[in-house]
Amino acid sequence: MTGQIHDPAILADGNDWRTRDLAAVWHPCTQMREHPDVQPLLPIERGEGAWLIESGGRRILDSGSSWWTNLHGHAEPRIAEAIATQARTLEQVILAGCTHPRAVELAERLLRLAPREPGRAPLTKVFYADNGSAGVEVALKMAFQWFQNRGDAPQRTKFVALQNGYHGETLGALAVGDIPLYRRVYAPLLCESVFAPSPDAYLARDGLSAAGQAEEAADALAQLLDEHAGEICALILEPLIQCAGGMRMHDPVYLKRVRELCDAHGIFLIADEIAVGFGRTGTLFACEQAGIQPDLLCLSKGLTGGFLPLSTVLATQALYDGFLDASRERAFLHSHSYTGNPLACAAALASLDIFESDDVLARNRGTAAKMATLAAEVGMHRHVADTRRTGMVVAFELTRDGDRRTPFDPALRVGLRAYRHAVERGVLLRPLGDILYWMPPYCIDDAQLQLLTAVTAEAIEEATACA
Ligand SMILES: *Cc1c(COP(=O)(O)O)cnc(C)c1O
Repeated sequence: MTGQIHDPAILADGNDWRTRDLAAVWHPCTQMREHPDVQPLLPIERGEGAWLIESGGRRILDSGSSWWTNLHGHAEPRIAEAIATQARTLEQVILAGCTHPRAVELAERLLRLAPREPGRAPLTKVFYADNGSAGVEVALKMAFQWFQNRGDAPQRTKFVALQNGYHGETLGALAVGDIPLYRRVYAPLLCESVFAPSPDAYLARDGLSAAGQAEEAADALAQLLDEHAGEICALILEPLIQCAGGMRMHDPVYLKRVRELCDAHGIFLIADEIAVGFGRTGTLFACEQAGIQPDLLCLSKGLTGGFLPLSTVLATQALYDGFLDASRERAFLHSHSYTGNPLACAAALASLDIFESDDVLARNRGTAAKMATLAAEVGMHRHVADTRRTGMVVAFELTRDGDRRTPFDPALRVGLRAYRHAVERGVLLRPLGDILYWMPPYCIDDAQLQLLTAVTAEAIEEATACA
């Protein structure tokens, strides 16, 4: 038999499973000393739609789409079938010197779907990698090398990034990230970046609108770019939502201004849509809401519907042409073993089919409107300083006095308290510090939204009662 679990005993008893896990597995992004006493370890055996199902049968709502990867629900049969069919045909092939139909089809389809700006040459090339951070590394290296290849601007060696931004955790990606928790210890290893103020609407003060705040951030960026004229090769940002930075959202006017500034300074604009791409913000890609097109577009997470690791970097023809040369050294000599893996490409194509056949973006507009109504109820709580939403992403910022100036003492671990309460009540509500958010699979139904709302409200009450 194939596909069988080698040791059925592992499923018989969730407790045993957890004990064995803690003896053998080192978990990501986790202080392992907190398992299992501070944080429970959830033994997930199956997934179904928006549900995760523990061994023993308890259902937990996956309100964060399993680290923002899942789009159409867990174990979605059409994607599962596409992967199985592909696995019986071609599971993997080296993408240097070889090609395969799924890599070609997916590239063509992504290019057709990519953001377009009138009067600007479109994105015409797709480079494959196998996870988000690797995709960011690819985009940064491409931008840098383009100037090196040209030879007339070798001093363009720096990147501009945004404060509170996040682009992954490999060293290149960390260098353009600004979340101290992930970055600080490695700072001595990182290349130098220039950080511009974040266009974060939450930071707007004194009656300033979100658009006004974004304009101010753009003015500050303009000044920074003048100060570093000639040193910069690219600017990287997360359009519309800084996700890991706490689901902080900004007005699209910022992206318009950034596009103009990058053009004026002759530097590449890298849009990291790894988390916000594929419908999270309401449009297929976030850049569409500003009517702009980046020079490099990084995609991952939801690209395969959340089934398999894959990332792509879409590039313009002008950028691609900068690598065509008699010299091998001027080529883009970057690769990963599983670059363009056929199973992952098949999953991505199946996910794009579902967008069409189920008219996912239209359905999401309805779901997002319901989320807005429900979020407003939760946001009435006296400790919620801000309730914000862009498309299918909602966030609640919890503070001591319910204003924007007095965060809770981090030692209270308000977010963690909320998390623990929610898990007990059947919702996986993983916080970002003291920010709770909803970023559910698109298939979430009304009953599940009601559960999510009730449990979030309770979790906030429970967690903030300590303060
Ligand atoms: C998750 C994320 C990444 C990194 O992707 P990984 O696959 O986790 O390496 C990069 N950028 C953004 C905006 C992300 O949210």
